[in-house]
Amino acid sequence: MNITLPDGSIRELEKGSTGLDLANDIGPGLAKAAIAVVVNGSQRDLCDPIIDDSKVSIVTIDSDEGLEIMRHTLSAQVLARAIKNLYPNSKLAIGPTIDDGFYYDFLTEKAISSDDLPKIENEMRNIIASGDSISKSLNTKKEAIKTFKAKQEGYKVDIINDSDQEDNFQIYQQGESDFIDLCRGPHLPNLKHIGAFKLTKVAGAYWRGNSDNEMLTRVYGTAWKSDKELNAYLLRLEEAEKRDHRKLAKEMDLFHFQEEAPGMVFWHPNGWTIYRALEDYMRYRLNNSNYQEIKTPQVVDRKLWEASGHWDKYRENMFITEIDEEHANEKRVNALKPMNCPCHVQVYNQGLKSYRDLPLRLAEFGSCHRYEASGTMHGLMRVRGFTQDDGHIFCTESQIESETAIFIKLLSSIYQDLGFADFSIKLSTRPEVRVGSDAVWDKAEAALENAIKKLSLPYTLEEGDGAFYGPKLDFVLTDAIGREWQCGTFQADFNLPDRLDAEYIGEDGSKHQPVMIHRAILGSFERFIGVLIENYSGRLPLWLAPRQVVIASIISDVDSYVDEVAQLLKLKGVRVETDKRNEKISYKVREHSAAKVPVIMVIGKKEAEERSLSVRRLGSDKNISYDLDHIIDEISHESKSPHSS
Ligand code: ZN
Repeated sequence: MNITLPDGSIRELEKGSTGLDLANDIGPGLAKAAIAVVVNGSQRDLCDPIIDDSKVSIVTIDSDEGLEIMRHTLSAQVLARAIKNLYPNSKLAIGPTIDDGFYYDFLTEKAISSDDLPKIENEMRNIIASGDSISKSLNTKKEAIKTFKAKQEGYKVDIINDSDQEDNFQIYQQGESDFIDLCRGPHLPNLKHIGAFKLTKVAGAYWRGNSDNEMLTRVYGTAWKSDKELNAYLLRLEEAEKRDHRKLAKEMDLFHFQEEAPGMVFWHPNGWTIYRALEDYMRYRLNNSNYQEIKTPQVVDRKLWEASGHWDKYRENMFITEIDEEHANEKRVNALKPMNCPCHVQVYNQGLKSYRDLPLRLAEFGSCHRYEASGTMHGLMRVRGFTQDDGHIFCTESQIESETAIFIKLLSSIYQDLGFADFSIKLSTRPEVRVGSDAVWDKAEAALENAIKKLSLPYTLEEGDGAFYGPKLDFVLTDAIGREWQCGTFQADFNLPDRLDAEYIGEDGSKHQPVMIHRAILGSFERFIGVLIENYSGRLPLWLAPRQVVIASIISDVDSYVDEVAQLLKLKGVRVETDKRNEKISYKVREHSAAKVPVIMVIGKKEAEERSLSVRRLGSDKNISYDLDHIIDEISHESKSPHSS
């Protein structure tokens, strides 16, 4: 049979050869490093026979796929075996991988706490030190049930019973140990490939996520290729905890959440000031980029959602309301808009459009509501009520490329202003199931790709990841501690204009359908503010800081000079507060620094006499003396948003 390798070369191997045979055929180095194979797109164990002509790639620990397999083996094999060694009467449930790590759920007789983690880690190290190889057997449903019944592993029996598969249940074993586990695999061929790991926490979790079932113990861990990478990750985690926007929001008094409105933000004056500064800046940038701002309704009849297709596809995420219309017998069913797009088409559809009106760029700071499961919400990062910096461009097919280029330039300038010089682009192309002809997809994909290429920007291709209605670009920015946040998006849509009857009169005098482009730069204001707070550790640039300047007096004799300076700054549009309390100056400085006020001006007798100021910048422990006019000019200039006059 012929095996096609990723570089296109072909190797002839005997039918039934395994991934390991293939690796050996290529070279001994690869055979040693190989941990699994991908056969025609699906991951397999190294020991699985390949039975037909196939495309095969060898997986090593150096790839993301390899790392994932290592994490999975650590969880399902090593952690689970350690638990059985230490707590022989425990019952095994499931052990999947998650971002950066893994967890395992099991039932124990005695509660396990985080104090037990070092002991479990030790046992895991002992197991790994054995360097056992991992083998597997294939079983019929009956055999598999019998095996796990004998082991009194009821959860495994449940999983097998619920499967519609009749055979090929994979049971993995390590060396001569009597530990076995049921798994889809693949696993490492032996424990020698395991890198560095750490168990991170213990939590409770219901079997199958159902609170009618018993509560299991869930042990979380993280695993990496080497100690160096593990330590870097742990440092990043620690750093992320320090920057957690929920914690900083309390210190800076920005917002809160409460039970009566889960996932919806109660903005406090300080938080709302940040929001408005960002909104003003975005409005300014959009106006200058030929967008026209609009506002569309919050509550819209289900008829429109039916027409747009959301009622069918997205209803479970929508907040639905019923209203008794005063003089009608029928109830009217509405939904809070989960997105603005259908409403924007309604605005477009008012009045006949001609090709001369295109491209038409409509922008809205659109408040949307989406029902997210309560367990998935996370401060500002995931909410139910949010405001998109939304916009839709209606254009012709031939305008997609230029619109893409214009958009990317705007986005990159805005990210730069907000402190994110570093962003990456993902281009997602046609999925299996889609609307629109191949000719239209060809054109749109080429338009997006050409625009990025002409701007000389790097991008990654995500083949088949586009929406059913068109190809898209996603923009991912990198924050100060290397975390990635997907914020911007640019999606061509051939579907909605058709469903909602958008059209224009072309140069030829007949009707055409415009392409609709959905685009956002921040994504949502709420989440982006969360990202900003974490990126800057709360130390926002002056123009975004809620309180830009606090003027603190050392003695009450200088109060009138304090007020005079505050008035001068206010006239220049600076957000300034005074602190004339009868407190020690060191106490005042400490308090305002903790609240992340970027500029603290200190005024004592000397300053009042000289008409000068002593200025302390956040993060510095030095006071610098300035004369009044100079510092007023400097601060008022710095407090303006970039690009504003
Ligand atoms: Zn849209």
